[in-house]
Amino acid sequence: MTFEDLNIEREVLASLNEIGFNEPTRIQYETIPLIKEGYDVIGQSETGSGKTAAFGIPLVEKVTRGTPVQGLILAPTRELALQNAGELKKFSRAKGLRIECVYGGASMGPQISGLRSSEIVVGTPGRIMDHMRRGTLKLNNVKIFVLDEADRMIDMGFIEDIETIERSLPRERQTLLFSATMPYELKSIRDRFTKNPREVVTDTKVKEDYLKQYYCDVDRRIKFSMLVHLLRKEAPKLAMVFCNSRRDTDIVARNLQQNGINAKSLHGGLSQERREHIVEEFHRGSTRVLVATDVAARGLDFKDVTHIFNYSVPMNAEDYVNRIGRTARAGQSGKAIVLLTREDFDLFSRIVNTFSFDIQEIDCSADDIRMLPFRRDEFREHSDRRGQFREYGDRRGPFREREDREFRRRRPFERQPRGFVFT
Ligand code: ADP
Ligand code: MG
Repeated sequence: MTFEDLNIEREVLASLNEIGFNEPTRIQYETIPLIKEGYDVIGQSETGSGKTAAFGIPLVEKVTRGTPVQGLILAPTRELALQNAGELKKFSRAKGLRIECVYGGASMGPQISGLRSSEIVVGTPGRIMDHMRRGTLKLNNVKIFVLDEADRMIDMGFIEDIETIERSLPRERQTLLFSATMPYELKSIRDRFTKNPREVVTDTKVKEDYLKQYYCDVDRRIKFSMLVHLLRKEAPKLAMVFCNSRRDTDIVARNLQQNGINAKSLHGGLSQERREHIVEEFHRGSTRVLVATDVAARGLDFKDVTHIFNYSVPMNAEDYVNRIGRTARAGQSGKAIVLLTREDFDLFSRIVNTFSFDIQEIDCSADDIRMLPFRRDEFREHSDRRGQFREYGDRRGPFREREDREFRRRRPFERQPRGFVFT
């Protein structure tokens, strides 16, 4: 099966050829014909399986040159909006469509002029709303409305924004929803936004043959030392380390740097300029370890990420799936390792049981671990005051201090029970 077999128009085919897309992935060959026929589509497939092109290729085909804003794509984070816009530009290079990306933290001026002439707009819900309020974004020509990672946008509290945006769109339009995870709470959105949708669901959330999952049962006080040990032992090409708060992200990154590991932190408390700079460095491989909050858990596609470390256990199963899905993309393989302290076991077994994942204990006996100092001082030079809040996309949440308090209360070293069983 090739893209030609899907009757993709010549100009778009030429662009796909240029970037080496020859054969469609499963989600692509199943959804592209439906979208071309005009159906609303809900597409759910594993992380890294090519969902962007699944909606992006038919979108670029259906949009004609010259009339602004026929395609509107919403994404939960600025980084993902930028990435999606970049992909669409590649698919439409030969066709010469203009694609504008609008997101917070960047100046309005250039976005406003871009919006006047762009056939396709990609953005985060907040900034799209800003432009609608100012009258700088007209949505009456939108033919296709895409929600990428819809569940995450709802999770972040964007529901009202999205509903407002949706009400401004023509009734006669196509709506496409794509994500690796579609929790039940999304049902109301699906029912309200789509008409007689076709659903395409592949059977897994992540490709378990390629993405191997491990846990490491570790005492809290040596958690950081264990991370360093594993990073050295596993020698990842590129690795991502996920933490739950902006503050932890900064602290872990700085401690890694102090141990000679080329690490940087990425979270929503950084300036937009710095966020883009760090993402770019990681794409180039000049940063080898990206320590991040969930702002980097959705949709981002970095080549050569071989390892994902969950330094903190995520709050829900969807976040776990999407964090580990930053590796083993597009047919590559990868490893995901979660560092579990005793207090994480309950939460993590719930996550694992939600999707019945196969997860093994990684060999990480504490005997050969060198105890490393771990400085918890605040590193603030890149963070603004919001640095102390738990990350939740662009929104604030209560600072997750619980772990620190429990740490201080802990009794002297006690061996963890081995052989964690997921029930
Ligand atoms: P998802 O949204 O499902 O997580 P992406 O759309 O980010 O996945 O795609 C993952 C990777 O696979 C990207 O690097 C993309 O360029 C690549 N890719 C997608 N479709 C194809 C294809 N048909 N042929 C080759 N590479 C592809
Ligand atoms: Mg995606």
